[in-house]
This record gives sequence, structure tokens and C-alpha cells, in this order.
Amino acid sequence: LFTRLNLMNVTELARKIKLTTSEMLEILPEFGFDIGRKAIKVDEKIARKILEMGDQIRLKLELNKKAKYEELKKPTVGLQPGAEVKEIQIPPVISVRDFAQVINRPVNLVIKELMKNGVMASLNQKIDFETAAILGDEFGLKLILAAGQEEVEQKQNVKDILGKESKSDLEARPPIIVVMGHVDHGKTRLLDTIRKTNVMGQEAGGITQHIGAYQAKRKDRILTFIDTPGHEAFTAMRSRGAKVADVAILVVAANDSVKPQTIEAIKIIQQAEVPLIVAINKIDLPDADIEKVKKDLASMNLIPEDWGGKTITVPISAKENIGIEDLLDTVLLVAEMEKDKIMANPNATAMGTVIESHIDKGEGPVATVLIQNGTLAVGDNLCIDDVFFGKARNLRDFNNADLAQAVPSVPVKIIGLKYAPKVGDVVCVQNVIERKNKKAKAFDIRKEETHINSKLFAAQDEDGQEVKKINVIVKADVLGSLEVIAESLEKIESQEVKVKIVSKGLGNITDSDINMALTSNALIIGFNVKATPLAADMAREKNVEIKYFNVIYHLLDDIKARMSLLLSPEVVRKDLGKAEVLAIFKTEAKNMVVGAKVREGIIAATSKIEVVRKGEVITRGTIKELQAGKQKVTEVASGQECGINFIGKPEIKINDILVAYSEEELKKII
Ligand code: GDP
Repeated sequence: LFTRLNLMNVTELARKIKLTTSEMLEILPEFGFDIGRKAIKVDEKIARKILEMGDQIRLKLELNKKAKYEELKKPTVGLQPGAEVKEIQIPPVISVRDFAQVINRPVNLVIKELMKNGVMASLNQKIDFETAAILGDEFGLKLILAAGQEEVEQKQNVKDILGKESKSDLEARPPIIVVMGHVDHGKTRLLDTIRKTNVMGQEAGGITQHIGAYQAKRKDRILTFIDTPGHEAFTAMRSRGAKVADVAILVVAANDSVKPQTIEAIKIIQQAEVPLIVAINKIDLPDADIEKVKKDLASMNLIPEDWGGKTITVPISAKENIGIEDLLDTVLLVAEMEKDKIMANPNATAMGTVIESHIDKGEGPVATVLIQNGTLAVGDNLCIDDVFFGKARNLRDFNNADLAQAVPSVPVKIIGLKYAPKVGDVVCVQNVIERKNKKAKAFDIRKEETHINSKLFAAQDEDGQEVKKINVIVKADVLGSLEVIAESLEKIESQEVKVKIVSKGLGNITDSDINMALTSNALIIGFNVKATPLAADMAREKNVEIKYFNVIYHLLDDIKARMSLLLSPEVVRKDLGKAEVLAIFKTEAKNMVVGAKVREGIIAATSKIEVVRKGEVITRGTIKELQAGKQKVTEVASGQECGINFIGKPEIKINDILVAYSEEELKKII
């Protein structure tokens, strides 16, 4: 009579039907289970019934939620359809929290609607009026811009952001160089000459895009040049407390010497506390007077080094390409002296300054941002002063090639903006709900995985031959290494195996790299970069292989070794000896026993046999048994007679030559 009932924990039950405890307890009455809102345990019989109905319960809950959501979205009283729509005034910029309050909707709902519109915003993040108005429409409200509301100037300051970075997170980045000077003294020409002779990754004869900055290489070091000569841009950038440039080149024409704009440039550079190099240009001209320039500089308290001062001067001709390498070497030297200041944290949330911006007919608003901290990636949400202004739909480098991401000091063209920002605006990434969202995306991608995989592996080369492929994703610290690695990998010679670079990019290995590796079944190669903690976890969990290198040769050796493993072995034939058939003892369907005399070398019991008649191979076979003097032997030497039990087509005739050979499989190596 006292049989103990088996009880089940409510939390356990909820977990089994994939609901939270409170969700389950709330919905159970709708299915006739009245176990009470505060129940802790249920008896087994009821539990089993609930388990059976799991799918139904979940579906119902989903429907309930949807209905509730729709209900919330409906206009509030007074805004019923047909009724006059009340106007709600909102300021040009408003935080998500305040916006929810003003329109009287739960803030979660506002965030959800924002997400639907591609904006990942947190409570405190601000949205602009345009975004707010779109949301208003969704909620059936009419929003108008509040009159006389001044946008509160609360500008972000690059210096403050960088100042917050802890020293140990900082890593060296390429120096950023700006060129200034009086009009017509040759700033544009100098930038063009450097670009033409030292720019990286540019195809011969290719047209580089003007995006306001480019990267050049000198002695394996990358230099970022701001390609917008002019004091205006520099001053605009400076207004945010930013020291956009690390080194300034002051161009002074040798035939014209110091002029008003030269003096203005000197002032700006000195105020910004940027180290300065004077390029004395146009020395090819007959009326060039380098000494006069030096004298004029000295009178401005810029005493040239060779006069015992500290001002570095480099005579050049931008037109004739004279002294340009000296100038670049000097830049490297100055950058080296300043190296403690030329640092950034590539793992931080990305931040940079707009150096160029326009509206493109095809691509809409486009901006070039010089990344100053963190790594900007495709898909990032961009804000200026906390106001969302677009998503980085596409990133391009100065050669207009797609970039997956941009690390510090990389000038990057961003496509996908809502409007063209101003030069000097500080762009920050704010991906609040990013992680959650990315996870969902990763899941979607994985669902398609098998499909993509088969596609990649059935790849054929140009001749229609099937080739094996090693898919790799390459991440490197600098563009130069990345290009060299990519090029070298693609150049590894093999008919059978090829390296396919699924993706390449700069910066640390991120979760999106892991996702890509999963979908494309790729190996991730990190050159002088690390994996973010999230990426490292994911890689471990999902069995994605990451290999780190800091020497290119080691990297190539490793890949070659992997490729070698995929090669089919090479079969090498070795002739052992020859014997002449003297007698046929037995002929069966698939074998013969013959007597032979070894004429050359040896015949081994393990040999393969080629039957040769009048110089032609009649057939091939193997040896079942080798005898000498009625004894089973492993080998018969030249001059000896033997009996051979031959397995193969029974086509041997007297006087045929049996060539004994062995075949060895040799592992091929790339
Ligand atoms: P910016 O106004 O400072 O950008 O000057 P530009 O680069 O447009 O140059 C002004 C003019 O000077 C152009 O006609 C250039 O071709 C010319 N120029 C620039 N560098 C040199 C040089 O080293 N030698 C000579 N002879 N002419 C130069």
C-alpha cells in the first residue's frame, strides 16, 4: 500500500523537452496538466505524458510568443488604425533605451526590431533619426524630428581610446606617413613616385584606386602613406586629438624654398608633435638651391643636421626618382626611433579615422578609414560617436581587392554605409550582440557544409584531370608576408596535389576563420598571428587544425610534407635477372611449371616475371614456387637451373626468356 511513487524533477523534465522550467510550468495548464506553478517534482506517469507531448508543447509555446509579440507591435490605444496617427517627436540621435521609453514599447522589442533591420544595438547605443523613423513605421508610429534639438557634441577621441589600452596588448604596427608642403612643391608627384616604385601587391600596369592612402614596402617594412596631400585633411583628423600620422614629410621645392604654406605646414606638424623629415625636392632643376632651403629652414629654427642641428633633410627629385630610397630609409629610421609610439592592439574592437569619403554611383556611400586600433572585419557594425551608420558589407584594400579584415595602420575602403562620413570622423565598431548572432550564422553555414565540401573536393584542374586539394586559410600579420605566402603556396609544383587558398587575410585568427575552415574543410595557417580565445576554443571543439609559423620556409615545408602524403606512391621497377626456358613440365589454366636456366643475375621467389619472346613481352605473371634440385628455394643464381611454378597466362614456350624483376613503391616527396 505504501508503494513509493517514482518522481521526476521539474527542471529535469523541462530540460528534456527543451524548455525553461518557468516556460514549461506556465504552459502545462493549457494542456490540462495542473501540477502547480511552484511544483518541484512530478510523478512519473505525468512526466511520461508530458515528455510524449514535448513537440506539441514547444510548438504551442512558440505560437503563444508570436501572438504576444504581434500584440505588442500593434499601435497603442489612440493609435488604432483609422484613428489619427499621433506624432512623436524625437531628437536627431537617441539611445535605444530612451527611444523605447518615448515610443512606449518594451526595450527588448525595440532591440529585436533593430536586429531585423540589420542593426545590432545595445540599450545604451544610439540610433539616428533615420533608423528611429524606420522603427517607428514598424510600430505604426509617426516620428518627427524634434525642432531646435541640437545634437549633443560628444565626440569620440582617438587618443582616449588608445590611452585605455594596456601596454601588454600593444603590438607594433606600420608607421603612417603624411606628406605636406607648399602648393606645387611636388607632394602629389612624390606620393605618386613612391606609389609607383614601392607599392605592394600591385599588378604590373594595374591601376591602383585612389582611396586616400596606400601601403608601400621598403626593406620588408610596410609604410602606410596618407595619399591626400593637403593641410585641411590633416587638421580635420587632428581635431579629434588623433595623431593620425606618425611621421611627416615636409616637401620644399629646391628652386622655390620656404613659402607661406611651408610655414603653415611646419606649425601644424609641430603642434601635432609629429616628427618631421624635410624632403628638398626638384633638385634636378638647374635653379635648384639646396643651401638656400637649408638657410631658410634654419631661420625657422629647423637647423639641418649637417649644420649641427636636428632637422633631417633629404635632397630628392620626385620627377627623376632621385633620393626616394634615401627618403624612405630615413622614414624607417625615424619610425624606429618612435617605435614605442607606433603601436596598437589588433585584438581590440576596431577604431579608425575617416581619411576619404564620397558617394559612389554603384556602391553608395564609401569611406576610407585608416584603422588605428583593433581589427575591422566584414560584417562589423560601424558607429560614429555611438550612432550606428552602417555595416561593413565589403572591405577593400587600396588595390580594390576584397579584404576579410583590416588590422592597424591598414587603410580600408568600407562599403555598406548609410551615409558618407566626414573626413576626420572617428569610426568605431560596436558589435553588441555580435557573438550570439555569429553563432547562429555559423550554424546556418554548417548546415550547408556537406554540399560545399563535395564541391571543393571534386575540383578538377584545367585539363579536366582530378586533382587532390589541400584547402588552406592563411592569416598573417602583414600584407607583405601574406602575399608572399599565398604566392609561394600556389606555386608549389605538383600534378596530383594543389593548395587551394580558400581565404587569406590579415590579423589574428577569429571565429569566422574557424567557421570558414569548417565549411571548406580547410587547414588554418597563422603566420605571426594568434587565434583569439574564442577562435581557439572553437577550433578545439570542432577539430579545426590551426598551424602557427613565424618562418615562411617552415610553413612551406610543412605544407609540402602534407601534400607529399597525398601523392600516390611511385612504382620503381628493378630488373633482377634473366632465365631461358628449357622445358615445359605442366600447363594448367592459370599456371605452368617450367624448367629454366638462369642466364643473368638472379631469379628470386618473390620476383615478378615478364615472358619475352623475340624481344617482345608476351605476358606477365608471378612465381608461386621456385625450386632448385627439387628443393624449394628463395633464389637461384646465374648459371643454375631451376623449376618455376609460374602464375599467369600459360603461354610460355621453350626458348622464351623469363625476365625477373621486382617493383618497389617509392614515396614521392614534393
Ligand atoms: P603639389 O601641389 O605639391 O602636389 O605638387 P605636384 O606634385 O602637383 O607638382 C607640381 C609640379 O611640379 C608638377 O608639374 C610636377 O610635375 C612638378 N614636379 C614635382 N616634383 C618635381 C621634381 O622633382 N622635379 C621637377 N623638375 N619637377 C617636379
